[in-house]
Amino acid sequence: MSEQFPVEDPSWDLDPIFEGGVESESFDREVELLNREVDELQQEVAALELPQEQGQLGRWRQFFDRYFQISDRLREAGSFARALASAHTDEAEAMRMPSRLDDVQTAMRQVRVQLESTFRNIDDAQFALFTDDERFGQMTLWLEELRSDAQRAMDRGREMLAAKLNRDGLHAWGRLYSEVSGRLEVEIERDGQMKTYSVGQAKNLMINADRSVRRAAFEGLQHAWKEASPVCASALHAIRGTQRTLYEERGGDCLTDPLEVNRVERSTIEAMFEAAREFKPVLQRYLKAKARLIGVDRLQWYDLRAPVGEEAKEISYSEAQQFIVDQVEEFSPKMASFCRDALARRWVEAEDRPCKRQGGYCTSFPVSGQIRIFMTFGGTSSGVSTLAHELGHGYHGMVMKKLPASERQMPMGLAETASTLVEALVEQAALRQAGGQRRLALLDQRLERATAFLINIPARFQLEKKMHELRAEGRLHEELLSDVTRQVFERAYGDPVAGVDELFWASKLHFFITGLPFYNFPYTFGYLFSRAVYQRALDDETFRDGLDDLLADTGRMRCEPLAQKYLDADLGSVEFWKEAAGALEEDVQRFEKSVEASL
Ligand SMILES: [Zn+2]
Repeated sequence: MSEQFPVEDPSWDLDPIFEGGVESESFDREVELLNREVDELQQEVAALELPQEQGQLGRWRQFFDRYFQISDRLREAGSFARALASAHTDEAEAMRMPSRLDDVQTAMRQVRVQLESTFRNIDDAQFALFTDDERFGQMTLWLEELRSDAQRAMDRGREMLAAKLNRDGLHAWGRLYSEVSGRLEVEIERDGQMKTYSVGQAKNLMINADRSVRRAAFEGLQHAWKEASPVCASALHAIRGTQRTLYEERGGDCLTDPLEVNRVERSTIEAMFEAAREFKPVLQRYLKAKARLIGVDRLQWYDLRAPVGEEAKEISYSEAQQFIVDQVEEFSPKMASFCRDALARRWVEAEDRPCKRQGGYCTSFPVSGQIRIFMTFGGTSSGVSTLAHELGHGYHGMVMKKLPASERQMPMGLAETASTLVEALVEQAALRQAGGQRRLALLDQRLERATAFLINIPARFQLEKKMHELRAEGRLHEELLSDVTRQVFERAYGDPVAGVDELFWASKLHFFITGLPFYNFPYTFGYLFSRAVYQRALDDETFRDGLDDLLADTGRMRCEPLAQKYLDADLGSVEFWKEAAGALEEDVQRFEKSVEASL
């Protein structure tokens, strides 16, 4: 089969992973096999005892080899199941795919609980037996985290029970949300008649040049989410409630786990948000200029992403692919060759049609060494950015695929390094080529992104913290959630924005991801950190050549030492983050000038 680039077909090919879609027999067999093998693994882990001397490490080596092999296979099957569910929200069978792995995932979680329980009382000498060993020395960070998780965990019996209950509780609420939001239909009036859209399609209309289309899309979305909001509020109430109970039992607060999972210090996040706050007045100047440009006193929520300047013509999927690859080529031929390959092999699902989950993501298949990207490409330049972003994730995944599984779990803030970098490359290249009104449009998009990462994401962080506080006081219901969302976002954006989306708490999937709470601060981290990396890579060719080393280390180092090693930077200092944001003020000045010139 000849693989052509660019590809015409915007749908992905999942057959190389498991053949046959929802009816895949090889997937059925794998699930069955995994269930059996994880059962065996449970027995193995229960029989393991802490070693007293080097010679007793043999069984541990065997165990970990199997543990990581099964983790990879589970990841492979899970990614496949989620991929089908994302792309076919109208098919019950597809939507049920992820839950077919519930049992094996729960059993695997129990293996981990058992492991933690064994590691709970490990002393320094025993721990050193592991880290001094050649096999385990590579996974030192992983083992250290196992040990510290073990120390924070509840006793074994309660952790086991929690793992079982979370399957039908915590995580089930998240799945319920996905089902409800995936099936949501948005009614929008266009050309005098009502039409039905998926949430993803309606969101694409929110960046339409015609203000009345944007308003209609916003109102349609508001109506749809309002209808769904009692269910969303119940789900959120249960999710935050369960998390709260677990945090109380384990000790720590709502940020303890997210910070650990993201391998980042609290002081780093504080310094980062402090820097973001300092840029707020600058970004507010941008928002005011944008309001002037579109001829309103203050922006409405549906104006925030309004295209301004010269409208980019509709971009075909082929053009988008070619444009991205051309830009990446200049920066790194190796990266470009990956992008070309991924697109030619139809690793991307980009079709613009209903019955698809909203948003975009990139997922990796560690067994087959492939990746897949999911998104809805609507022919806009924002779609090009999303595709570039996800291809960056894909490249990062490919750099790491040769590493052992214990070194492939990267924190989200660092996971955004390559993605945001590729997105920035594409954006920068487009800006270079453009003049006049097109340039104005691109500057606007760049500042829009800055606003998202430095105002919107910090607001989401505040909102999620607030949800925990309010949950401690009682019932999270839809009016309360809408009230607090309005307050938080009004304060965040300030005077230039007149109307905020008070149903943001319901429409944003991130608040409902039960396995990864606070799915927000890593975005700001990734945006600023990758800007610092990008700047450095442009200035310093040696650094650019070593970029793969940095990417490979993202799975085996905490954020602070990694930044120290590659950027000689102190993440706890507000200065680092301010410098990373860099030339933002100049961009705003340029934007203001362009606006004045075009009025
Ligand atoms: Zn990303």
